[in-house]
Amino acid sequence: MADPTELTALAARIASGGIQVIDLTSPLHADTPILQLPPEFGQTQPFRLEEISRYDDRGPAWYWNNIRTGEHTGTHLDAPNHWVTGRGKEDVASIPPRRLIGPAAVIDKAAEAAKNPDYLLDVPDLEKWQEENGELPDKGWLLFRTGWSARGDDPAAFANADDRGSHTPGVTPEAARYLAGTGLLGFGVETVGTDAGQAPGFTPPFPCHEAVLGAGKYGLTQLRNLDKLPVTGALVIAAPLPIVTGSGSPARVLALVAA
Ligand code: MN
Repeated sequence: MADPTELTALAARIASGGIQVIDLTSPLHADTPILQLPPEFGQTQPFRLEEISRYDDRGPAWYWNNIRTGEHTGTHLDAPNHWVTGRGKEDVASIPPRRLIGPAAVIDKAAEAAKNPDYLLDVPDLEKWQEENGELPDKGWLLFRTGWSARGDDPAAFANADDRGSHTPGVTPEAARYLAGTGLLGFGVETVGTDAGQAPGFTPPFPCHEAVLGAGKYGLTQLRNLDKLPVTGALVIAAPLPIVTGSGSPARVLALVAA
């Protein structure tokens, strides 16, 4: 039965601080790290503000900007149609809003990623997490904590590239297929994308995109403050713009956490 007092109580607890609202979103500015692909491919553009007026002769009482951005810039949501395996599935505007909100599970591999930037989450990690914490949440998010967001204001450190490409944590092809077979809404990361920096060379390339988006699930990227979330029990709300036919969108991602 619908009980409107539940929402009233929730609002009161948010207002009182009894439920904390944690912002998992990276700020958007010209130096927000973006993915760089090999030069033979099309490239996404950095975020840019283009001033229209600022209380001046172009608009005496108002300040506003045009924005220029890729869909996959900063904290953003990957829609299923971003990948060829999800072609014909939901675009970002077609995702039912109830599928943008769900319980979050956090798997913490920050120590491992600090030692090895190419660290890959594997199936045994997911099995061990579930032995300790219960099943991955049905219609929920799995958030992969790596500590990588600490590099988020330094694009070079964030990309961590050398002549063999980028070195950032991700998932194995087996773990990607495992996640695709769960009841999760999607998989969230601190890095520029849901796949590892070295994933262009994996078999298949970009296995997380291939399996997870192909299964109609979503990706969330460049998340911050995952260290402020409990292992289970947070409620995550991802709010991408409804770009009609779009493959993704910058998103505000918030977590509700009982204080
Ligand atoms: Mn993306």
